[in-house]
Amino acid sequence: MAVTRTFSIIKPDATARNLTGAVTQALEEAGLRVVASKRIRMTREQAEAFYAVHRERPFFGDLVSFMISGPVVVQVLEGEDAVARNREVMGATNPADAAEGTIRKRFAQSIEANSVHGSDSEENAATEIAFFFEPGEIVG
Ligand code: ATP
Ligand code: MG
Repeated sequence: MAVTRTFSIIKPDATARNLTGAVTQALEEAGLRVVASKRIRMTREQAEAFYAVHRERPFFGDLVSFMISGPVVVQVLEGEDAVARNREVMGATNPADAAEGTIRKRFAQSIEANSVHGSDSEENAATEIAFFFEPGEIVG
């Protein structure tokens, strides 16, 4: 399996509880390398565009409001089979279903305030990375 990249967000519930370091440590311990990272406050327009795929879902409005409710840390992660590796260490969307030791099991507060985002395919990872980062900001 090749070294690939994925896109991660440390969500507002985690930054609010000062968990940026703890989440990043869990990612690094899972074999993922942070090759780009910045703390931003997403605009409503950015959050709506980022989650456009969920526009018709009943939770869309709440999700956008949550994602702009505080700072987030957007990151590019690199490692062996990075998309799948990251999804594994993140755990299930709903922390009630997440496996022991995963980030969402350890830190998430609810299905919405679930501490992290991770790309779900290599194609979406490339799109999401380009949404937040210029190529020169990524240093492997
Ligand atoms: P993410 O895309 O953030 O990595 P995911 O791929 O595990 O999470 P998605 O189905 O893509 O889950 O949903 C995107 C986000 O929308 C979830 O992470 C969560 O914050 C929120 N969400 C998903 N389902 C629900 C729901 N039923 N109620 C409230 N919020 C939800
Ligand atoms: Mg998703």
